Amino acid sequence: MEKYMVFACSDSRVCPSHVLNFQPGDAFVVRNIANMVPPFDKAKYGGVGAAIEYAVLHLKVENIVVIGHSACGGIKGLMSFPLDGNNSTDFIEDWVKICLPAKSKVKSEVGDSAFEDQCSRCEREAVNVSLANLLTYPFVREGLVKGTLALKGGYYDFIKGAFELWGLEFGLSETSSVKDVATILHWKL
Ligand SMILES: [Zn+2]
Repeated sequence: MEKYMVFACSDSRVCPSHVLNFQPGDAFVVRNIANMVPPFDKAKYGGVGAAIEYAVLHLKVENIVVIGHSACGGIKGLMSFPLDGNNSTDFIEDWVKICLPAKSKVKSEVGDSAFEDQCSRCEREAVNVSLANLLTYPFVREGLVKGTLALKGGYYDFIKGAFELWGLEFGLSETSSVKDVATILHWKL
């Protein structure tokens, strides 16, 4: 039985099975641009909604983990696009806009720091926006209330080879080498 549902970026450098040493049967994985979880919306985000519904209600996963990563092109796009309504792409700007609250937070808190630092901060903040968006799904909320489901944020820095994991409920953070990640996951989750 799959115990984990994982959101990871489509970026080929951050394959979650490789990063977290998952074996077949361990994790139900959704990958998209910048590992974003959109809010509950039957009209716009049915693909993601169906995956979450299936994972929570039928696979009965015990954890949903959203994993951000360093040098994410999707987050760089979110931070770069003007997002003023005059889209230059058919889909990409509308998609990354899901984490606009993360961009706003970064701009207001560290808007005068180097662009790379802002992006790196946004990569983590966007994970928190996704975790918050997960709470808009009634079956996710129900699982949290019943204690059958936990939400975790993760961040993989493939340059430093480090992985951080934090829980929504405790706000804890753990950093370790990639090799220890599977251990941390099992210990922490
Ligand atoms: Zn990415």
